[in-house]
Formats: sequence, structure tokens, C-alpha cells
Amino acid sequence: MFVFLGPPGAGKGTLAKRLSEVLHIPHISTGDIFREEMAKGTALGKLAKQYIDKGDLVPDSIVSEIVKGRLSQKDCEKGFILDGFPRTLQQAEALEEMSNELHRPLKAVVNLQVSEEEIIRRLSGRRICRNCGAIFHIVNMPPKKEGICDFCGGELYQREDDTPEAIRHRLQVYHQQTEPLIRLYKEKGLLVDINAERPIEETIQHLVKIAEGNDLH
Ligand code: AMP
Repeated sequence: MFVFLGPPGAGKGTLAKRLSEVLHIPHISTGDIFREEMAKGTALGKLAKQYIDKGDLVPDSIVSEIVKGRLSQKDCEKGFILDGFPRTLQQAEALEEMSNELHRPLKAVVNLQVSEEEIIRRLSGRRICRNCGAIFHIVNMPPKKEGICDFCGGELYQREDDTPEAIRHRLQVYHQQTEPLIRLYKEKGLLVDINAERPIEETIQHLVKIAEGNDLH
């Protein structure tokens, strides 16, 4: 089991997805799960939307239940990459319980490091495919055709929580609630700091090397 930690805009989603393709293990993003539920208009989606659009965290008990359900599915047996979970100390405790129950130890926590200036630049230019969830950036990773997903032809949109006000709030929430996890995992000897300001291909190669050096399954 592999966890991706880092502030919003650090590239968790993009990097975790790429690494999951290389390692052939599922990429589990709690943010993606919520966005899918919101797009479908389910009760969970409606509930999550109230928090997400403002840049707040969805309550721990809800997120942990969802992750627990997802990790017990068959495709997770060979390992998985968690992106965006845990985000609080309480979630980290819940994850530890799940990992004990599933006999799947946490092998490494990748801490993606990126400056606040770069975060704002990345998030304000980010565009997401409404259909498949692929991530683009209007400058760094533009789609071949403006507003259209390269992979499925879906419409690209800007997340509600990528507005300047929500970004500021999400960063605050990150510093208050998620940053303490860095110390926790450092003390456990699991933390791997990664400079995530480099071009994406360089970071991917670095991550693959780390993954190959660890038995991540
Ligand atoms: P992300 O796509 O990881 O940036 O997540 C988008 C939003 O979903 C976050 O800003 C939160 O509102 C919510 N979310 C995702 N993962 C979690 C989590 N582990 N705990 C609480 N809220 C979450």
C-alpha cells in the first residue's frame, strides 16, 4: 500500500494515476469518488458537495467508510495507491485499522513538496474531464483541442473548488489538518519526500524507482 500526501495542486492525482498504470494496481482517489457521486447526483454526492465546493473536508466518518468499502474489493488484493486519503489524524488512525484488518501494511507515504506560488498557478489553470476525470492544465498540459478531453472527447471544466477563494481555504485546511500527518509518517519511518516542482516525467521516473525499491504490494 502506497499513500500520496501533499497540498492541493501538488500533482497527487496526476502522479498517482500514472504510477498505478506502471505498477498495475488501482489508483484510489477519494476526491474522484466524490466527484463521480456528485456528477451522478446521488445522496452521497449531494452531501459531499456541500463541503467540497467550499474547500472544506468531508467528515472523517463518511470518507473512512467509503475507503474501507473500496479497499475490500477484489482488485485491491495486489496492493493499491491511495490519493487524498488520509487527510486528517483521525483518518490516519482509521487507515491503520484497515491495514491491520486487511493484512496489507503501509509501505511508503510519498510527500509531494511544492511551493505555494506553484500551487496557485497549477490549480487556477487546471481543467478536468467531465466524463473520465482526466486532468489537464491550460499551460503545462494543454489538451490537443481546447476544452476537449484528449482521451475520451469529453468536455473539460474547471472545478468549483479551484476558484481563488476556495484554493486559499483548501490550503489553510491542508496546513491545519493534513500537514500533521507528515510528522506522524516521518516518525514511523515511512515518509519519502519528493520534489514535485520538476517536470512531470522526471517526477514519475523518480517515483517508479522508489516503487521498484520497495515491495509496495
Ligand atoms: P481532491 O480531489 O483530493 O483535491 O479532493 C477534493 C475535495 O474532496 C477535497 O477538497 C475535500 O473536500 C474532499 N475530500 C477528498 N478526500 C478527502 C478526505 N480524505 N477527507 C475529507 N475530504 C476529502
